[in-house]
Amino acid sequence: MAARTDRTTDPQLRAALLLARRGQAYFSRKLNELGNDELDAPSLVPGWTRRHVVAHVGLNARALTRLTEWAATGVETPMYASREERDAEIEYGATQPARALRNLSAHAAVHLDVEWRDLAPEAWAAPVRTALGRTVPASETVWMRTREVWVHAVDLDNGASYRQFPPELVDALLADVTRMWRSRGGEVVVPVLEPTDRTVGPGGDDGSVRVRGRAADLARWATGRGGERLLTTSDGSPVPPPPTWL
Ligand code: ZN
Repeated sequence: MAARTDRTTDPQLRAALLLARRGQAYFSRKLNELGNDELDAPSLVPGWTRRHVVAHVGLNARALTRLTEWAATGVETPMYASREERDAEIEYGATQPARALRNLSAHAAVHLDVEWRDLAPEAWAAPVRTALGRTVPASETVWMRTREVWVHAVDLDNGASYRQFPPELVDALLADVTRMWRSRGGEVVVPVLEPTDRTVGPGGDDGSVRVRGRAADLARWATGRGGERLLTTSDGSPVPPPPTWL
Protein backbone atom coordinates (compact mmCIF):
# COMPACT_ATOMS: atom_id res chain seq x y z
CA MET A 1 0.00 0.00 0.00
CA ALA A 2 1.25 3.47 -0.84
CA ALA A 3 2.27 5.71 2.03
CA ARG A 4 0.26 8.83 2.78
CA THR A 5 3.28 10.79 3.93
CA ASP A 6 6.81 11.10 2.63
CA ARG A 7 8.85 7.94 3.16
CA THR A 8 11.99 9.98 3.66
CA THR A 9 12.58 11.17 7.21
CA ASP A 10 15.56 13.41 6.34
CA PRO A 11 14.60 16.80 7.84
CA GLN A 12 16.49 18.80 5.19
CA LEU A 13 14.80 16.92 2.37
CA ARG A 14 11.40 17.26 3.98
CA ALA A 15 11.91 21.03 4.27
CA ALA A 16 12.93 21.13 0.60
CA LEU A 17 9.82 19.17 -0.37
CA LEU A 18 7.67 21.60 1.58
CA LEU A 19 9.16 24.56 -0.31
CA ALA A 20 8.49 22.81 -3.64
CA ARG A 21 4.89 22.09 -2.62
CA ARG A 22 4.33 25.66 -1.49
CA GLY A 23 5.68 26.78 -4.87
CA GLN A 24 3.34 24.44 -6.69
CA ALA A 25 0.40 25.83 -4.72
CA TYR A 26 1.56 29.36 -5.54
CA PHE A 27 1.83 28.60 -9.25
CA SER A 28 -1.56 26.85 -9.30
CA ARG A 29 -3.21 29.74 -7.47
CA LYS A 30 -1.88 32.29 -9.96
CA LEU A 31 -2.97 30.06 -12.85
CA ASN A 32 -6.45 29.66 -11.38
CA GLU A 33 -6.80 33.43 -11.11
CA LEU A 34 -6.50 33.67 -14.90
CA GLY A 35 -9.51 33.25 -17.16
CA ASN A 36 -9.20 30.99 -20.21
CA ASP A 37 -8.99 33.90 -22.65
CA GLU A 38 -6.23 35.50 -20.55
CA LEU A 39 -3.98 32.51 -21.23
CA ASP A 40 -3.36 33.79 -24.76
CA ALA A 41 -1.57 36.91 -23.47
CA PRO A 42 2.22 37.18 -23.44
CA SER A 43 4.16 35.95 -20.40
CA LEU A 44 7.39 37.45 -19.08
CA VAL A 45 9.37 34.78 -20.97
CA PRO A 46 10.38 36.32 -24.30
CA GLY A 47 8.41 34.72 -27.15
CA TRP A 48 6.14 32.72 -24.85
CA THR A 49 2.45 33.25 -24.09
CA ARG A 50 1.06 32.21 -20.71
CA ARG A 51 -0.03 29.01 -22.47
CA HIS A 52 3.60 28.16 -23.18
CA VAL A 53 4.51 28.72 -19.53
CA VAL A 54 1.68 26.48 -18.31
CA ALA A 55 2.54 23.75 -20.82
CA HIS A 56 6.23 23.95 -19.94
CA VAL A 57 5.64 23.77 -16.17
CA GLY A 58 3.34 20.76 -16.61
CA LEU A 59 5.77 18.99 -18.93
CA ASN A 60 8.62 19.79 -16.54
CA ALA A 61 6.73 17.92 -13.79
CA ARG A 62 6.44 14.94 -16.11
CA ALA A 63 10.15 15.12 -16.93
CA LEU A 64 11.07 15.23 -13.24
CA THR A 65 8.68 12.34 -12.62
CA ARG A 66 10.74 10.37 -15.14
CA LEU A 67 13.91 11.15 -13.17
CA THR A 68 12.24 10.14 -9.90
CA GLU A 69 11.08 6.87 -11.47
CA TRP A 70 14.62 6.33 -12.76
CA ALA A 71 15.88 6.67 -9.18
CA ALA A 72 13.21 4.28 -7.91
CA THR A 73 13.71 1.55 -10.53
CA GLY A 74 17.27 2.00 -11.79
CA VAL A 75 15.88 1.97 -15.34
CA GLU A 76 17.25 4.99 -17.19
CA THR A 77 14.46 7.39 -18.24
CA PRO A 78 15.85 10.79 -19.23
CA MET A 79 13.96 14.06 -18.73
CA TYR A 80 13.62 14.64 -22.48
CA ALA A 81 14.66 12.70 -25.58
CA SER A 82 16.31 15.84 -26.95
CA ARG A 83 16.21 19.61 -26.69
CA GLU A 84 14.26 19.72 -29.97
CA GLU A 85 11.66 17.27 -28.73
CA ARG A 86 11.28 19.23 -25.49
CA ASP A 87 10.69 22.47 -27.39
CA ALA A 88 8.28 20.84 -29.83
CA GLU A 89 6.30 19.36 -26.94
CA ILE A 90 5.94 22.81 -25.35
CA GLU A 91 4.84 24.34 -28.66
CA TYR A 92 2.28 21.59 -29.17
CA GLY A 93 1.16 21.67 -25.53
CA ALA A 94 0.50 25.40 -25.71
CA THR A 95 -2.07 24.87 -28.50
CA GLN A 96 -4.32 22.63 -26.37
CA PRO A 97 -7.72 23.83 -25.19
CA ALA A 98 -7.52 25.70 -21.88
CA ARG A 99 -9.16 22.85 -19.96
CA ALA A 100 -6.60 20.35 -21.23
CA LEU A 101 -3.77 22.71 -20.32
CA ARG A 102 -5.13 23.12 -16.80
CA ASN A 103 -5.51 19.35 -16.48
CA LEU A 104 -1.93 18.82 -17.61
CA SER A 105 -0.72 21.31 -15.03
CA ALA A 106 -2.69 19.79 -12.17
CA HIS A 107 -2.26 16.09 -12.97
CA ALA A 108 1.45 16.25 -13.75
CA ALA A 109 2.05 18.04 -10.44
CA VAL A 110 0.12 15.43 -8.45
CA HIS A 111 1.91 12.58 -10.20
CA LEU A 112 5.33 14.02 -9.41
CA ASP A 113 4.33 14.57 -5.81
CA VAL A 114 3.18 10.96 -5.44
CA GLU A 115 6.48 9.69 -6.88
CA TRP A 116 8.41 11.86 -4.41
CA ARG A 117 6.22 10.76 -1.50
CA ASP A 118 6.72 7.08 -2.26
CA LEU A 119 10.43 7.20 -3.11
CA ALA A 120 12.37 4.95 -0.74
CA PRO A 121 14.71 6.86 1.61
CA GLU A 122 17.86 5.34 0.09
CA ALA A 123 16.74 6.02 -3.51
CA TRP A 124 16.97 9.80 -3.02
CA ALA A 125 20.76 9.45 -3.35
CA ALA A 126 20.54 7.53 -6.65
CA PRO A 127 22.28 9.30 -9.55
CA VAL A 128 20.13 10.73 -12.35
CA ARG A 129 20.96 13.07 -15.24
CA THR A 130 19.50 16.53 -15.81
CA ALA A 131 18.51 17.92 -19.21
CA LEU A 132 21.77 19.88 -19.19
CA GLY A 133 23.74 16.65 -18.76
CA ARG A 134 24.68 17.05 -15.09
CA THR A 135 24.65 13.90 -12.95
CA VAL A 136 22.93 14.68 -9.66
CA PRO A 137 21.29 12.73 -6.81
CA ALA A 138 17.54 12.26 -7.25
CA SER A 139 17.01 14.68 -4.35
CA GLU A 140 18.09 17.48 -6.71
CA THR A 141 14.76 17.06 -8.57
CA VAL A 142 13.14 18.84 -5.62
CA TRP A 143 15.19 22.00 -6.09
CA MET A 144 14.84 21.76 -9.89
CA ARG A 145 11.07 21.79 -9.46
CA THR A 146 11.13 24.45 -6.75
CA ARG A 147 12.81 27.05 -8.92
CA GLU A 148 10.54 26.23 -11.87
CA VAL A 149 7.22 26.66 -10.07
CA TRP A 150 8.11 29.82 -8.16
CA VAL A 151 9.86 31.65 -10.98
CA HIS A 152 7.33 30.67 -13.64
CA ALA A 153 4.49 31.84 -11.35
CA VAL A 154 6.04 35.30 -11.75
CA ASP A 155 6.29 34.72 -15.51
CA LEU A 156 2.49 34.35 -15.68
CA ASP A 157 2.56 38.11 -15.13
CA ASN A 158 -0.59 38.41 -13.06
CA GLY A 159 0.75 39.60 -9.75
CA ALA A 160 3.22 37.00 -8.48
CA SER A 161 6.39 38.67 -7.26
CA TYR A 162 9.83 37.72 -5.96
CA ARG A 163 9.01 39.92 -2.98
CA GLN A 164 6.37 37.35 -1.99
CA PHE A 165 8.93 34.51 -2.04
CA PRO A 166 10.01 33.01 1.31
CA PRO A 167 13.45 34.37 2.33
CA GLU A 168 15.04 30.91 2.23
CA LEU A 169 13.92 30.59 -1.40
CA VAL A 170 15.40 33.98 -2.32
CA ASP A 171 18.70 32.97 -0.71
CA ALA A 172 18.68 29.58 -2.45
CA LEU A 173 18.03 31.23 -5.82
CA LEU A 174 20.91 33.67 -5.31
CA ALA A 175 23.20 30.79 -4.34
CA ASP A 176 22.04 28.72 -7.33
CA VAL A 177 22.60 31.51 -9.85
CA THR A 178 26.00 32.37 -8.41
CA ARG A 179 27.03 28.70 -8.54
CA MET A 180 25.89 28.43 -12.17
CA TRP A 181 27.83 31.56 -13.12
CA ARG A 182 30.94 30.25 -11.37
CA SER A 183 30.62 26.82 -13.00
CA ARG A 184 31.32 28.46 -16.36
CA GLY A 185 34.83 29.12 -15.04
CA GLY A 186 36.12 32.41 -16.41
CA GLU A 187 33.54 32.65 -19.21
CA VAL A 188 31.42 34.81 -16.93
CA VAL A 189 32.50 37.76 -14.80
CA VAL A 190 30.43 37.10 -11.69
CA PRO A 191 28.68 40.28 -10.52
CA VAL A 192 29.03 41.36 -6.89
CA LEU A 193 25.57 41.14 -5.33
CA GLU A 194 24.99 43.44 -2.38
CA PRO A 195 21.68 42.63 -0.69
CA THR A 196 20.63 45.52 1.55
CA ASP A 197 18.45 43.28 3.72
CA ARG A 198 21.00 40.52 4.40
CA THR A 199 24.20 40.59 6.42
CA VAL A 200 26.23 38.70 3.82
CA GLY A 201 25.68 38.29 0.13
CA PRO A 202 27.41 36.08 -2.42
CA GLY A 203 30.68 37.75 -3.43
CA GLY A 204 31.65 38.33 -7.04
CA ASP A 205 34.78 38.72 -9.12
CA ASP A 206 37.14 41.66 -8.93
CA GLY A 207 36.35 44.45 -11.34
CA SER A 208 32.86 43.16 -12.06
CA VAL A 209 29.61 45.11 -11.88
CA ARG A 210 28.24 45.63 -8.36
CA VAL A 211 24.50 45.40 -7.98
CA ARG A 212 22.79 46.58 -4.81
CA GLY A 213 19.20 46.18 -3.67
CA ARG A 214 16.80 44.00 -1.72
CA ALA A 215 17.68 40.31 -1.91
CA ALA A 216 14.35 39.53 -3.63
CA ASP A 217 15.04 42.15 -6.32
CA LEU A 218 18.58 40.87 -6.76
CA ALA A 219 17.20 37.36 -7.23
CA ARG A 220 14.74 38.68 -9.81
CA TRP A 221 17.51 40.43 -11.73
CA ALA A 222 19.98 37.53 -11.43
CA THR A 223 17.41 35.05 -12.78
CA GLY A 224 16.78 37.28 -15.80
CA ARG A 225 13.44 38.87 -14.83
CA GLY A 226 14.44 42.54 -14.86
CA GLY A 227 16.38 44.99 -12.73
CA GLU A 228 13.86 47.62 -11.71
CA ARG A 229 14.50 49.20 -8.28
CA LEU A 230 18.13 48.09 -8.45
CA LEU A 231 21.16 50.29 -8.99
CA THR A 232 24.81 49.61 -9.50
CA THR A 233 26.70 50.93 -6.51
CA SER A 234 29.62 52.22 -8.54
CA ASP A 235 28.01 55.15 -10.36
CA GLY A 236 24.25 54.81 -9.87
CA SER A 237 23.66 53.81 -13.48
CA PRO A 238 20.92 51.31 -14.45
CA VAL A 239 21.94 47.69 -14.07
CA PRO A 240 23.06 45.78 -17.16
CA PRO A 241 21.50 42.42 -18.12
CA PRO A 242 22.85 39.61 -15.89
CA PRO A 243 24.94 36.73 -17.22
CA THR A 244 22.74 33.81 -18.31
CA TRP A 245 21.51 31.60 -15.47
CA LEU A 246 20.29 28.29 -16.99
ZN1 ZN B 1 11.42 26.60 -16.95
